[in-house]
This record gives sequence, C-alpha cells and structure tokens, in this order.
Amino acid sequence: MKNKTILIVDDTIANLDVLVELLDEYDVIDATNGKDALEIVNEEEVDLILLDIMMPVMDGYEVCKRLKSNENTKEIPVIFITAKTDEESIAKAYDVGGSDYVRKPFLPKELLSRVKKELKLQDVIQELKLLALTDPLTKLYNRRFFIDASQAFLEMAKREKSPLSLLMIDIDKFKNINDIYGHQIGDEIIKLLANIMLEVQRKSDMSCRYGGEEFVVLLPQTSLKEAQYVAQKLKETVETSHFELTLKQKVTFTISVGVSTVNFKNEINIEKALKRADDALYKAKENGRNQIRTIK
Ligand code: GH3
Ligand code: MG
Ligand code: MG
Repeated sequence: MKNKTILIVDDTIANLDVLVELLDEYDVIDATNGKDALEIVNEEEVDLILLDIMMPVMDGYEVCKRLKSNENTKEIPVIFITAKTDEESIAKAYDVGGSDYVRKPFLPKELLSRVKKELKLQDVIQELKLLALTDPLTKLYNRRFFIDASQAFLEMAKREKSPLSLLMIDIDKFKNINDIYGHQIGDEIIKLLANIMLEVQRKSDMSCRYGGEEFVVLLPQTSLKEAQYVAQKLKETVETSHFELTLKQKVTFTISVGVSTVNFKNEINIEKALKRADDALYKAKENGRNQIRTIK
C-alpha cells in the first residue's frame, strides 16, 4: 500500500522539526502558515493534517473551517496540536471539524498512537464506502453505484458533447451451467466474466454487476460503432475462455450483448438508453444467443 502523507502546519520551525522526526515512517510535508497549507492540500494527496491553532495571519480554526467547506478536502482528518488548553478552545476545535486534539507539549508516543488510530479509521471508512458500492462476488461496481455514476457520466457527456455508449451483457443459458455443475461453479463463471470485462474495458469505462448474471458497461467518449467493437471483443474473449474444473473437464460459456448509445436530444437520464440496450439484448437471445445486437 502507498505510504500515507501527513501535512504538518505550525509556525514554529522547532515544532515542525520534532514532528517530522517523530513521523519518519510517513511521507511528511510541512507548512509554516495556513495559506501554504491550503495550497498544498489542493496539489498533493494528503491523508492527515496536524494543525497548530495559534498562528499569525490565519489561525488553525480558520484553516480547518476552510478545509471542511471545500468538497475536495473536507474528508481529510485534522488533529489539532496546540498549547491552548481551556475548555472553550477544545470545544471550538471539534466545532470547526477537527477529529482529535493533542495538547502541547505532547508526549511523542501518545501523538504517534493518535495518528495511527486516525489513519486506521480512515482506511476502515474507505473500505466501508467501497463495500457499499461494489458487489462482493465480482468486486465490480453494483447497480446502486451504476445508477448514480451513470447520471454523472451523462452530465459530463452533455457538457463535452461526446458520445456515451452502453453494453448490457447476459450470460447465455446460465441456469444450465448451475444445473449441471452446481452453484459454486456458476459463481466462478460469474467471477471469470467479471475479470474478462475488466481486462477488455478501457481505463475510463465502468463495468458493473447489474443483477445475477447480468452486467452493464458504461463507455464514455465512445460511439456506437466503437462500443460494438468492444462488445465483439468481449464476446470473442468469453467464447475462447474456459473455467477449468479438472484437467479433463473444462466449462465454457457464452454471452449475449445489447449495445446502445445515448441520444442526447431526448434523454435526460440514462433509462431510455438502458432500455434500448436491454431490448437489443432480448433480440440477441431471440436470435440464438452468443451475439451482439443494437437498436438505434
Ligand atoms: P438466457 O440465455 O435466456 O439468459 O438463459 P439463462 O438461463 O441465463 O437465464 P435465466 O434468467 O433463466 O437464469 C438465470 C440464472 O442465473 C438463474 C439464477 O439462479 C442464476 N443466478 C443468478 N445469480 C447468480 C449467482 O450469483 N450465482 C449463481 N451461481 N447463479 C446465479
Ligand atoms: Mg442469462
Ligand atoms: Mg438473466
């Protein structure tokens, strides 16, 4: 995992030196005033901020308030380190959005444990967020995330006047695979397909598990023709892949794909394009499966 980055803000250089040395297991950036600190967080990826309160020009409270009112920086935890010890000052530190408060002069070991605790908490929060957005079996994004993200993709495509395409994918005769080999092998096939999707997709594409053995891919800046090409490649990759049961027995499977492109003239959300992809998928099934179809 990437080393965590901690930003230390204190107007006393001697304090910075002590903290930099104490936190030598992390990547540390230091700043001697609030203005520099606010610039740094916009340029660097910072995981935690240790913030002094009494500083000239802009005090720590004000720095924290600004961090918390900015969408890009509001999630970065702030630990105040300060000589102010009255009740009111401590309350204010929490009021402006601070996560923790350490009194100066601090005990090095205590400070280090608080830093560790705070970073660990952030990791757990990150993990929970990801868990709510992804499907546990395949680790692809789930349907809930797809619905939110597709709206954002649509807005972006409108703004940039660029095409946005969709693939709706369904495993053919999947019920048979479950019936013949059992549910566990069925799950493995679903995972295999998800991995193939991640391999075939481009960096900007977004693959989601839409339902049981149904998937969607959002392809920004992709015309219908290009999307058909991606679908074809996916179909062919699946056709030539297999899940190995034993050395002798291999399970193969196929997929059907419906492709559509958003029509910006009359689509304010993604549903209509999704419906066309779904109708196209139905056609592919009707026509004998293992193929891609498009409805314009
Ligand atoms: P078609 O070619 O028309 O798509 O046929 P199909 O059998 O794939 O379609 P159908 O919708 O009849 O069956 C889908 C099956 O997928 C039924 C369901 O039990 C199975 N399934 C859904 N989710 C999972 C899963 O997470 N794991 C496994 N093993 N099976 C699943
Ligand atoms: Mg199916
Ligand atoms: Mg299905």
